[in-house]
Amino acid sequence: MTNENLGQSKKLAIVYGPELLNYDFGPEHPFGSKRGKVTWELLKALGIPEREDVLNLNTREASNEELRLFHTQDYIDFVESACKRGFGYLDGGDTPAMLGGFEAAKTVVGSSWSICEAVMKGQARYGATIVGGLHHSFPGRASGFCVFNDLAVSIQLLRREFKLKRVAYIDIDAHHGDGVMYGFYEDPNVIFIDFHEDGRYLFPGTGAIHELGRGIATGTKFNMPMPPYSGDQSFIRAWDSLVPQLLHDLKPEFILLQMGVDGHGGDPLTELNYSSASYKHIIRSLREQAEEICNGRLALFGGGGYNLESCALRWTEMIATLIDAELPDFLPDIWRTHYKEITGEEAPVTFQEDSTGDNTLVRVSEMVDWFRMKGYLLA
Ligand SMILES: [Zn+2]
Repeated sequence: MTNENLGQSKKLAIVYGPELLNYDFGPEHPFGSKRGKVTWELLKALGIPEREDVLNLNTREASNEELRLFHTQDYIDFVESACKRGFGYLDGGDTPAMLGGFEAAKTVVGSSWSICEAVMKGQARYGATIVGGLHHSFPGRASGFCVFNDLAVSIQLLRREFKLKRVAYIDIDAHHGDGVMYGFYEDPNVIFIDFHEDGRYLFPGTGAIHELGRGIATGTKFNMPMPPYSGDQSFIRAWDSLVPQLLHDLKPEFILLQMGVDGHGGDPLTELNYSSASYKHIIRSLREQAEEICNGRLALFGGGGYNLESCALRWTEMIATLIDAELPDFLPDIWRTHYKEITGEEAPVTFQEDSTGDNTLVRVSEMVDWFRMKGYLLA
């Protein structure tokens, strides 16, 4: 990875390095380094990091001072000592304390920030990182595989370092982005829009439609709890009804997208059924909004995704869509060989897959109507 040609603005800044793969909770745990590895190998096999319009950034560790913009010092100390010990959990039993885990978690935060910084400095129009999007982490506790909240720290740094007034955070991970939402629940300058599987069926259980923010922040937090088995039809309807209008009304200066792919059909941990069509649609839509509203400033962060094929194909497709990189009909053989070596499973052959229908559209339309009735969307 090199930081050459920094003076010239590129289309996309991406950050990657072996240090990011150290954010790994072991072979028996669903959140492991293979997710990032299979995706990065596919991006490389397609020549995306080497493109002229792509800026490759080195990973970096966040400082304790940066972490304290969202986390408490007590919690930072707790993670450091628990990871030095190297056994047990940082939370009730989802997020193990691993040797080296403190440094790995700080690297995720620092690297996520580096793509935002590159966009703000005009080195690149958009940013993307595959390992990151740790939206369940709270100021004082780990949760759901998330140690430190790279998204929340980046939001704070955008405001402190670049004096941004208003930032939008959008989350399409199947799980609700509770750490980000409650972290800024009383803050009117963080716009939060989250599409997740209904909390009555999936961890962490939060993100009901009536959770709109508190006090002066009421009307800046929006939750769309998607019914289980929602597919492209319902997701695209929900997205198109909410996102363009809310962003135009609330006018953020920077947009962060947590692009977890655990809502993709075939993910072992959730019951959503999105396909390639949804992911490409939201990237095109969001890029258009970012160009109209905030000078293109848009950064993508990995997030969840526990089917390795979904991670590699959908994240690669999203990044390619963002920069209009053409994708071949068939996946490169060199990547298919790597995939088999890394996962022990047969590799897929193509990016193509059928769009998914559903029988949840009536319920989703009712929820959109609820936002209209409350006056947050035009009739
Ligand atoms: Zn998730």
